[in-house]
Amino acid sequence: MLPLAGLAWLAWAIVEQDRVSEHTRIAERREQALGVATASLQRTLAEIEERLTVVASGTGDVRAEAGTFAKRSGAAFAVLERRGLITRGGTFLPFYPASAATELPSSPVFVRADQEEFTKHDPAAAIAVLQPLAHSQDLGIRAGVLLRMARNHRKSGDTLRALATYDALAALEEAPAGGLPAGLAARQGRALLLEADGRTKDLRREAATLLLDLDEGRWPLTRQTYDFARTQALGWIGGAGPIARASDRLALADAVDGAWRIWLTSLAAAASDRQRRLVRTAYGSALVLTRTSPGRLAVLVAGQRFLQDGWLADVRPPGTDTDVDFALTDGDGEPVIGRTDGPVALQSVRTASLTSLPWTVHAITTRSSRSGLSRTAQLSLAAVALTALMLVLSAYLISRALARELSVAALQSDFVAAVSHEFRSPLTTIRQLSELLTRGRVSSDDRRQQFYETLLRESERLHRLIESLLDFGRMEARGAEYRFDRLDPEPFLREVVIDFQQQIADGFVVDLRVRGPLPPIRADRGSLSRVLWNLLDNAAKYSPEHRAVQVDVERSGAHVLVHVRDQGIGIPPHEQASIFDKFVRGAHARLASIKGTGLGLAMASRIVEAHGGTIKVESRVGVGSTFTVLLPIMEHG
Ligand code: ADP
Repeated sequence: MLPLAGLAWLAWAIVEQDRVSEHTRIAERREQALGVATASLQRTLAEIEERLTVVASGTGDVRAEAGTFAKRSGAAFAVLERRGLITRGGTFLPFYPASAATELPSSPVFVRADQEEFTKHDPAAAIAVLQPLAHSQDLGIRAGVLLRMARNHRKSGDTLRALATYDALAALEEAPAGGLPAGLAARQGRALLLEADGRTKDLRREAATLLLDLDEGRWPLTRQTYDFARTQALGWIGGAGPIARASDRLALADAVDGAWRIWLTSLAAAASDRQRRLVRTAYGSALVLTRTSPGRLAVLVAGQRFLQDGWLADVRPPGTDTDVDFALTDGDGEPVIGRTDGPVALQSVRTASLTSLPWTVHAITTRSSRSGLSRTAQLSLAAVALTALMLVLSAYLISRALARELSVAALQSDFVAAVSHEFRSPLTTIRQLSELLTRGRVSSDDRRQQFYETLLRESERLHRLIESLLDFGRMEARGAEYRFDRLDPEPFLREVVIDFQQQIADGFVVDLRVRGPLPPIRADRGSLSRVLWNLLDNAAKYSPEHRAVQVDVERSGAHVLVHVRDQGIGIPPHEQASIFDKFVRGAHARLASIKGTGLGLAMASRIVEAHGGTIKVESRVGVGSTFTVLLPIMEHG
């Protein structure tokens, strides 16, 4: 037990050690991943700010720079002056702090056309005046012309032409038309036309796409224009369902707006400045990077999607992506990206003050427990298990051998007692009778004759006992030597039975029945008669009441069967197999002090086996036993 407990402790220690080292390994990997991620975030931020600096300082091509920011969605880039937006990039926003400053283009043609339209109320004449400039290279002029033409077509009731003209105007997109981007002005014009014509379905469709374009920032608008156009479009759509707002874009637009206000009001507007700020808008949080010069503000606003899909996707070191996740929290510990509500033991953290990043960066082990033990631990455990197994096995074997030794010792001491007993009783008889005879105390001749016979029987019994002990000793030492001869079973059996009956004087009856003719067998006469003698002797010994035994002999196929049936005490089933082992005596035999050595059946079974036969027993306690000897018949016999 003690060594087993030691092994169990060892196994536990191995598992525990493995768990600890695995934990350390995971923590190291997480720390490393966090380091890489932080460095990567710092680098990316620095690069972006570098570019913002270039843009803000006015050197370099601002529009080209804006194009490069368009790579990923979720971040908006804008360059603003005090007057308004210079250019935008990345994700287009629904509105900007101030739309591009637009000076309405003027032309003498516009003056004349407006006179025809508004003073003389002659739209046809106005169209005629405008027509020559409808393809002007100056987009501003062309937009002004198309806007007026469409209006006059409408006034003259020519809806089809008016719509077509609006289409042409819409293609000019951002060109200024009547204080609005041409695209928006044209779409509004079309909608008003459809409304006037009562084409509700078309109007709704027009308004829905307009709404979508507004929210996606198709045109750079001021918040005021955006809000107005949106409300108008919603009015046209009517109650045809709520329209979700693109909240991430609104968050970015809000953030840009905020940055611009700060720039305008702060003293720093006069000087160059850089800032990283994390802002929370009504629609979500965003990172605002700004660079200012006295005349310009360059701003990049990154929303959650951009952080998630863009930067964090990039910073995962190869190979560790499966079990480390990242999360960002702001100064108040509120999550910006990802979740940090898992167990603290599985997180590594770099605070904003350490990294000069705008967030605290968290690395989180996602797979907390492994599927199994490490290979080394597995091998060690297998070794421990093997040792335990061997321990148990050897303990079992030793205890079995010990038990066997003990039982053999017990059997042997029983044997010695039994043999002594066997010797003592005939010896006592012989001694007493010889004493009587020697002293001449027996008067009658009859009686003397009777004593002599008893002396003879007892000494023969002793002789048989000694013979059988010697025989068994010889068998044990070097195996018995047999002389096999042809033997006719029937006369042989009769002889043995008569012999037995003569020697057992106390009226025990043996009934021999031979069924059918019997073929000869090959046998050692002396040994085989000892087998039968033993069986008959047992039958007599263990049948205290029914003093008769029946011997049946028959042929069965290639065998001769000899059944010895008694009606004695019987043998319990659990003893039936072991009685053929040497020294083994039945419990009842021992308790009832029936004489015996435990050698008879052991010898019988060895002899029968040497003849190529078998011996078996069928028995029921209190009913009787049948021993059957099966002997092969002699070939060519
Ligand atoms: P023993 O000298 O004890 O008779 P054996 O080897 O001849 O030794 O028999 C072994 C045991 O088998 C006996 O002790 C007895 O318990 C049992 N046995 C043998 N023959 C019979 C029988 N005919 N009836 C009942 N028990 C028997």
